[in-house]
Amino acid sequence: SPELPADFETARAEAERLTADIERYRTAYYSEATSLVSDAEYDELFHRLEAIEREFPELVGQDSPTQEVGAAVVSAGFPEHEHAERMLSLDNVFSLDEFREWAEKARAAAGREVRWLSELKIDGLAISLAYRNGVLETATTRGDGRVGEDITENVRFIPVIPARLDAGAPGGAAIPEFFEARGEVFLASTDFAALNARQRQLQAEFAAEQTAKGVPEDRIPVRYPDFANARNTAAGSLRQRAEKKNERELELMRDRLGRLSLYVHGIGAWQHPDFENQSDAYRMLAEWGLPVSPHSRVFDSVDEVVGFIEDRGEHRHDVEHEIDGIVVKIDELELHAELGQTSRAPRWAIAYKYPPEEVHTELLDIRIGI
Ligand code: NAD
Repeated sequence: SPELPADFETARAEAERLTADIERYRTAYYSEATSLVSDAEYDELFHRLEAIEREFPELVGQDSPTQEVGAAVVSAGFPEHEHAERMLSLDNVFSLDEFREWAEKARAAAGREVRWLSELKIDGLAISLAYRNGVLETATTRGDGRVGEDITENVRFIPVIPARLDAGAPGGAAIPEFFEARGEVFLASTDFAALNARQRQLQAEFAAEQTAKGVPEDRIPVRYPDFANARNTAAGSLRQRAEKKNERELELMRDRLGRLSLYVHGIGAWQHPDFENQSDAYRMLAEWGLPVSPHSRVFDSVDEVVGFIEDRGEHRHDVEHEIDGIVVKIDELELHAELGQTSRAPRWAIAYKYPPEEVHTELLDIRIGI
């Protein structure tokens, strides 16, 4: 990357420009489920800003995007809901060397050997599910990490998210009176394809109606466009508003919600946890009926984690959902408390991001003449 600014004034001017751009992209991404730039371009701006702030720490204000989680809720009309425990983002690394450096530091801070819970980083959107007495009380988007949008009414149409937990086998762990499970809502690749097939069918039906009314073919508007990518489609589906929709539109909205999936990947507030590792929590959540990713692994050594990262990178598209990296977490919960967190991210976890793929679908579409 280009050299850092030499003096404070130049640095400030560049940091301001970067902040303005990042804020604009974030608002579009989190509030409108639209990407104005690719994730890789966004990450590059973010990292340039981080590097400038490291060199000129006086520039780091509380409102710098590097100090914040997501974006404050720009209301689509859902009630606001405060998380019982804050939701965080993750720090990123972009190379295996950077990953090893992070792991070494984390292990040094822990003061002992640790186990590494390694997971696929699902390209979806974060959600918090609060259960009271085994019943889903609220489902909330991450928002700014403190307050999100209460989207419970929509989540009730997602079949894989249980409204009531299953007490599990006799002798199994008791469900606490209250807990928050954190996870990622996503659209599986096959569901994304099916949804787009449905859009084309709807458009064809609409076009036939228009033709019957005598509208010339080149004047028929596109009412049901293709969805651009699975992540933004999942985000858009989840934040649809039922208000002012007619029966037909409601049916389509529920159809879109019904196709969403979820994997749980964390815990928030939890009364009297009686387990020692995050992977134990996953096993319990799975017993109670919450979907947990089958792809997670626990490793004893950093070399094994690196092997996992490399292997999964080669088989990125063999997974049922889009992934944009690997999340590595220290498995022992005791160490989570010990290592703590920054204003934005835990110190006991990191996201390794894969380099962007070279073939962009838009280019491919042009080449194969769609
Ligand atoms: P992030 O996506 O880098 O990492 C944090 C999130 O990862 C968590 O909140 C969680 O929701 C998710 N996650 C997925 N799988 C997980 C797992 N197994 N364990 C734990 N968490 C998991 O950070 P972010 O703050 O959500 O967003 C920043 C990223 O969003 C950027 O790096 C970029 O990729 C994208 N973004 C893109 C644009 C754009 O315009 N293209 C704008 C804003 C953000």
